[in-house]
Amino acid sequence: MKIVALAGGVGGAKLAQGLAQTLPPEDLTIIVNTGDDFEHLGLSISPDLDTVCYTLAGLANNETGWGRAGETWNTISNIEKLGGPAWFRLGDQDFATHLERTRRLKEGQSLSQITSEFCKAWGIQVTVLPMSDSPVRTMVDSDEGELAFQEYFVHRHCEPRVKGFRFDGVEAAKPAPGVSEALEAADAVIFCPSNPWVSIDPILGVVKEINKPVVAVSPIIGGKTVKGPAAKMYSELGIEPSALAVAKHHRSTLKGFVLDHLDASMEEQIRQLGLATLVTNTLMNLPTDRSRLANDVLNFIGSL
Ligand code: GDP
Repeated sequence: MKIVALAGGVGGAKLAQGLAQTLPPEDLTIIVNTGDDFEHLGLSISPDLDTVCYTLAGLANNETGWGRAGETWNTISNIEKLGGPAWFRLGDQDFATHLERTRRLKEGQSLSQITSEFCKAWGIQVTVLPMSDSPVRTMVDSDEGELAFQEYFVHRHCEPRVKGFRFDGVEAAKPAPGVSEALEAADAVIFCPSNPWVSIDPILGVVKEINKPVVAVSPIIGGKTVKGPAAKMYSELGIEPSALAVAKHHRSTLKGFVLDHLDASMEEQIRQLGLATLVTNTLMNLPTDRSRLANDVLNFIGSL
């Protein structure tokens, strides 16, 4: 069964790893959000791509959910001592990724070529693609005006109240090479449990149409996010955060929806939206949870 998974960072990477442990590498393509990408300290940084790749390569820091395991922080500490910006924490190993990515971009390589070569160097066998080689930048409309995504997310700790989102550059951005081909070849598409507003929506903004059965896994469990601002965003936009809200959010694209046992009381309402449902444990604390959930989702797709 050929699968395309759409992923943001933390939640996306966890299920992507479960799928990578379950499917033959040639059957899995992961399309990653690049709306969070930004330029900082003169470097081109792709946080979601790096989280997915570090996770697949077994290099990720599982405690923070971003960056590399076993990091040291000499470079950023010295930048801070010199009066430079240190709000976006970059470890020494991580710096190498951004330096080399930036060097290659400046030489004219595309983000998708660079990602493919980094994946080879890290021993990643599945295909990881950025959603686009052209810049798309998520802008957060807030009570403090419009903020670039990392300014809102990291610098301001998601404190400003959200009023909406805009994906700068999305109209002109073409899917990266391989994205449309993978969707064409896929038997089904999985939305990993990633932030619907700022991880999945930017990818859908670029991809525009998916003509394959789509199944989403809820990133909201018991009305809360495991990590990140998705629930806060729903509340500030006047929508009660829940698995049901996520199902409604993506409803026009979905065939099936995976929700946690904690939210089983919403299953009937989600079915009434016309979606098939699977209730299972969706929290991926342990590595074994990732492959178990991947198996559950794949069996669910097989049953549709
Ligand atoms: P970001 O770009 O790093 O914020 O990453 P994502 O958009 O991929 O992930 C954020 C979402 O992942 C949040 O809404 C979390 O609730 C969700 N998430 C993180 N870990 C898990 C998990 O173990 N299970 C589920 N169901 N969702 C998770």
